[in-house]
Amino acid sequence: MTYQFKPAWLDEDLVTYQQTVARFLDTEMVPHDEASRARGHVGHDIWRKAGEIGILCTDIPVEYGGGGGDFRHEALLHESMGHRGLTGMSPSVHSIVAHYFLNHGTEEQKTHYLPKLARGELVGAIAMSEPDAGSDLRGIRTRASSTGDGFKLNGSKTFITNGYLAELVLVFARMDTPEDNGRFSVFIVETKKHKGFSVGNRLKKIGLKAQDTSELFFDDISLGTKDLLGGNPGQGLYQLMADLPYERLLIADMALGAMEGAYQTTVEYVRHRMVFGKPLIEKQNTRFVLAEMVTTLKVARAFIDDCIQKILAGRLDTETASAAKLWMAQQQNILIDHCVQLHGGYGFMDEYLVGRMFSDARVQRIYGGTDEIMKEIISRKL
Ligand SMILES: Cc1cc2nc3c(=O)[nH]c(=O)nc-3n(C[C@H](O)[C@H](O)[C@H](O)COP(=O)(O)OP(=O)(O)OC[C@H]3O[C@@H](n4cnc5c(N)ncnc54)[C@H](O)[C@@H]3O)c2cc1C
Repeated sequence: MTYQFKPAWLDEDLVTYQQTVARFLDTEMVPHDEASRARGHVGHDIWRKAGEIGILCTDIPVEYGGGGGDFRHEALLHESMGHRGLTGMSPSVHSIVAHYFLNHGTEEQKTHYLPKLARGELVGAIAMSEPDAGSDLRGIRTRASSTGDGFKLNGSKTFITNGYLAELVLVFARMDTPEDNGRFSVFIVETKKHKGFSVGNRLKKIGLKAQDTSELFFDDISLGTKDLLGGNPGQGLYQLMADLPYERLLIADMALGAMEGAYQTTVEYVRHRMVFGKPLIEKQNTRFVLAEMVTTLKVARAFIDDCIQKILAGRLDTETASAAKLWMAQQQNILIDHCVQLHGGYGFMDEYLVGRMFSDARVQRIYGGTDEIMKEIISRKL
């Protein structure tokens, strides 16, 4: 028996939900992870299955086809995936897409798209970054020009999570119209409906091997005002900012899940690994390193639980969410590095969970806003 890091908010219903998630991950995802990593994506089937058992869009209201739960349900899914080092499917991006619809979509857009996202019938992606614009999104070149009764979308995006499998992409674009020139909008692109849409390379990455991160191209895509998120042009930046705390808390929570999983598997390992005739855990260094991990995990859990209480109350501000994302992602990299060290050479092997977690962890300090951007945001209120 070692330390358990249970969320403070776990009640009986959530435990039942957690068990459903665990069963799904252990039967449908873990056994196929190796194949997904070799292929570079998880395939559509798993999205449909996840939708069927009700683990997608759990915090979207029932009237829009969601689970009618709240952030705790999302947290349990993301932490459980983190425990197992499952990074192929990105339900976080999918949930963020759903929240864009929920918070900014017209009633028609919500009733049309949210049930399909919840069923996993449409895999969601968000396309903001471009080759020359990541942190500084104001530098994007993807443009929407006016056609009189609608828009033509042209441009390209890169590093897009779920990009290869995505059937519904929210595209951040600059308006090239007399009225809204230079302002930004979010466009809804159903990929299968447009000949001008294409997916470029599935990008080869140093981690997240099972996750399809892709380039996307938009060539003269014809869109109507119904494809403009919220129906009014020029709202893109505001829509983007409004959803950042949610997005950053999800990333922070994934970091916590990965840390807990890495700690658990490392404790197991050092109990059985023999060095100089004794289990590795008996060395003072091993116990001290693990004791520091336990301390980090207790602080991390308290921080995340506090953020979760705040988001449930509608009070999670951007600075706090950015601080959570910054600190959790950094701690994830530090803690997992210690786990690799305690595994010795095996820690560097791809077949060991901590080895995979190590390479998956690095990007957590980059996507969803880099460490430096998080510090910029936090320091605005100094
Ligand atoms: C695996 C993966 C998945 C991703 N998924 C998505 C996705 O689904 N959708 C999407 O739109 N994007 C996605 N991204 C893109 C990601 O959000 C960007 O890579 C990230 O925001 C950084 O942008 P950049 O790569 O252009 O780096 P740059 O912005 O060029 O940054 C380079 C360096 O400069 C630093 N820097 C930049 N500005 C400042 C500043 N003001 N002060 C100090 N330092 C600064 C950065 O912190 C960084 O260290 C993904 C990226 C990866 C790697």
